[in-house]
Amino acid sequence: MRTFVDKHIHRGLRTKLVVDLRTKGIKDQAILNAFLSIPRHYFLDEAFFQWAYKDAAFPIEVGQTISQPYTVAMQTTLLEVEAGDKILEIGTGSGFQACILSFLGAKVYTIERQKVLFEKTYKLLRQIGFTKIRTLFGDGFKGAQKFAPFDKIIITCGAMEIPTSLFSQLKDGGIMVVPAGSGDNKKMYKITKQGDELIKEEHGVYRFVPMLQGVNS
Ligand code: SAH
Repeated sequence: MRTFVDKHIHRGLRTKLVVDLRTKGIKDQAILNAFLSIPRHYFLDEAFFQWAYKDAAFPIEVGQTISQPYTVAMQTTLLEVEAGDKILEIGTGSGFQACILSFLGAKVYTIERQKVLFEKTYKLLRQIGFTKIRTLFGDGFKGAQKFAPFDKIIITCGAMEIPTSLFSQLKDGGIMVVPAGSGDNKKMYKITKQGDELIKEEHGVYRFVPMLQGVNS
């Protein structure tokens, strides 16, 4: 079994990554601190540890990716995470984004549709001490009704259109952050639910692996 070690060299690389994120406009100290604290190399195969600290997406299992650090930081910023928030993530992938949210004090529920990834990440999160994150296997389009309503919903795969059915699982005053659009470049939406109204803001353009229907067992 892999042993997880966090060495001086990793911490040095993390410091550089955080400087890079700050230069690119990420100012929230709690978020930067999460990036400084969580060993991102745990989420990639050992041979690729150098890649863990570049501001780039990187391939993981079954054709999926670990999101680019800047994208994770940006989505986390838009989510306005507060300690105690109940957050639903769609697209567990490597588990890194879920750990950032958990580190910030959120109660995290995360759904993955790829069985291989779900099983791998479920084990990883326990091995590295993120035991409070609830990992679910399923189709994120259905959300997690059993645990709803959520304060926040974050979607970390690219949707063709905003998955409006999920708003029923979001609290009044809650925020959804979702990359959506018909092309390869998705617009990043921050949507606040206010009663029957949805207040929509756009925050730049990003690339994501697609949000797909159903599960792959
Ligand atoms: N948050 C992840 C990003 C992984 S990439 C990280 O930090 O690494 C996006 C993930 O979304 C992929 O693993 C993909 O399988 C998953 N995904 C795509 N459509 C989905 C759906 N409908 N429900 C749940 N997960 C989905």
